Amino acid sequence: MEKIVSLCKRRGFVFPGSEIYGGLANSYEYGPVGVELKRNIQDEWWNVFVRRRSDMVGLDSSIILHPKTWEASGHVTGLVDAMVECRKCHTRTRADHLIEDYFKKKDEKISVEGKSDGDLDAIINENKIKCPTCGSFDWTPVRKFNLLFETHVGIVPEAQSKVYLRGETAQGIFVSFKNIVDSTRVALPFGVGQMGKSFRNEITKGNFIFRTLEFEQAEIEYFFNPEAVDWRKLFEVWKNDLWKFVTENLGVKKTHLRWREHGDEERSFYSARTEDLEYEFPFGFKELWGLAYRTDYDLKRHMQYSGIDLSYTDPVTGKKFLPHAIEPAVGINRLMAMVLLDSYTEDGDRIFLKLPPRLAPYKAAVFPLLKNKPELVEKARGIYEELKKDFMVVWDDRGNIGKRYYAQDEIGTPFCITVDFDTLEKGDVTVRDRDTATQERVPIDRLKEYIASRLK
Ligand code: ATP
Repeated sequence: MEKIVSLCKRRGFVFPGSEIYGGLANSYEYGPVGVELKRNIQDEWWNVFVRRRSDMVGLDSSIILHPKTWEASGHVTGLVDAMVECRKCHTRTRADHLIEDYFKKKDEKISVEGKSDGDLDAIINENKIKCPTCGSFDWTPVRKFNLLFETHVGIVPEAQSKVYLRGETAQGIFVSFKNIVDSTRVALPFGVGQMGKSFRNEITKGNFIFRTLEFEQAEIEYFFNPEAVDWRKLFEVWKNDLWKFVTENLGVKKTHLRWREHGDEERSFYSARTEDLEYEFPFGFKELWGLAYRTDYDLKRHMQYSGIDLSYTDPVTGKKFLPHAIEPAVGINRLMAMVLLDSYTEDGDRIFLKLPPRLAPYKAAVFPLLKNKPELVEKARGIYEELKKDFMVVWDDRGNIGKRYYAQDEIGTPFCITVDFDTLEKGDVTVRDRDTATQERVPIDRLKEYIASRLK
């Protein structure tokens, strides 16, 4: 993890948040190549799950929704974590994380899911678990705090003007459900996909971009008639789709992934089944993607709180009912952390990111062999400008070729194209492959086709 964090800063993927002001915990900035990688992952998700499917539509709802949304969804009372504070150094931490980390260090496993505040207090006290920051054993009792960020609409911070930054994108889908059904030709079963920023007041130190205050969430609500569709089968279909996306589209190794089903204590009360697709991060197998069968819980609650009929009328039978929903929910930033970790490769003294070419920030880099030979620079510039019309490519003429390869390897550029004196005579260039470090000559007029064929 330290190697990835350092590479991300060195090469412009991810910077610590607000660094010039001493930093802001659990927040990050995505640098020039980081923003490209993140966008490529977002595009991949949107293309696979929304654009290329005939049973899906997209949505972009507001970050600030009517506050009743979060009362109806249960987040105002339910999106809470149990917290303790060290009386000496004032470190605040999640009680479950404190306990789990303590037992993990002793190579013991403990499950604290579903335990009451009193139970958590008892475990901390019985084991005399110390503060990870200052080493004291002087905790406040466990208390609950809500993860929703509050703010106010308008200039007067009164109770009536209180709103929340969304804690998940999913609720926007339920709130717009009726408008989507009324305005489009969708018929059950169909899904709505939405991607955008969600906000959670996370207090535990977040393992790089795995857990942050704001994150790009990508969620789907897949609606169906529970009498016409067997939810168990549909659940399996979704499991397959998510697995395929991670292993094929994002190129992640299968051995680093597993499914884990939530037990009764852990599962949300409205969910009939929840399984997490977990990735083996350096800090253990952790949730990457949650898949939950949410029944008709959300639509029912929004119907109660809004007084608006959200039921669906079957176009054939005319029967009215509330659809049920299966929800695959993922954080794009977590996908990005996984992709970076999984593609990081050391081969002797060579370090490279073995990113699937489609995800790479730059598809190719173009170099003139020598910076001070105008005929080489001009020729290379022409190739660069031409490729730029179709691909994200980068220009580099600094240092020697070895240094340029080194820099491109570290940001995962699949192809480096060098223009040399032979190019001027023969009309071909050297293309060097990131993964094998082998080189081949490719005619200039075949370069676009060469790159395009490797992006499929
Ligand atoms: P965790 O247990 O890790 O806090 P969660 O169970 O609260 O996650 P969900 O509410 O199921 O998460 O959210 C769906 C997905 O959103 C998660 O699988 C994860 O990929 C992503 N996610 C949730 N919280 C964060 C966060 N603070 N930072 C980055 N991604 C997040």
